[in-house]
Amino acid sequence: MKNYSRIISLSFPPMVSGKPVICNLATLFDLTFNILKARINPRHEGHMVLELSGREEAYNQGITYLQEHDITVTPVAQQISRDEESCMHCGVCTSLCPTHALYLDPETRRVEFDCDKCTACGQCTRICPVHAMHVEVEENGF
Ligand code: SF4
Ligand code: SF4
Repeated sequence: MKNYSRIISLSFPPMVSGKPVICNLATLFDLTFNILKARINPRHEGHMVLELSGREEAYNQGITYLQEHDITVTPVAQQISRDEESCMHCGVCTSLCPTHALYLDPETRRVEFDCDKCTACGQCTRICPVHAMHVEVEENGF
C-alpha cells in the first residue's frame, strides 16, 4: 500500500547527474516520483525537487540508496492549503486524513480544515476530486 509521501530536494555531484538513479527508485523500491523542479546537466552538479511516495520502509531504503550514490537529500518545507472556493464539502478527505486536520463540522455539515493539525502528508491532495487541496513547496532558490 502506498502510504508515505515526502517532498525532497536532491543535489547530484557531476558524475551522478547523467545516471538513472531516480528511475531506479521505481525499479528497485517500487516508489513513485513526481519531479517538481529539475536542473540537470551531466557535466555539472544537478538539482532536483521531487515528491517521493511509497511504503515507508521502501521510502527509507530509497533515501539510503540515493545517499549511497553521493546524492545529498534535504527535506523541503511544505505546507498544505485549501482553495475554499473549490471545496464542495463532499467529505471524502476526512476519512483518510490521519491527523483529523480535515473534519466534518456536525452542525454546519461543512468540512473544516485545521492547518495546525496538518502534517503535510499530502494524501488529501491526491484524493480530492476537485483538487481543492494544494501543496506549497518552499523555494530552494534554484
Ligand atoms: S475532498 Fe476536496 S472537495 Fe471534498 S471536502 Fe475534501 S477538500 Fe473539499
Ligand atoms: S496533508 Fe495529510 S494531514 Fe494535512 S490535511 Fe491533508 S490528509 Fe490531513
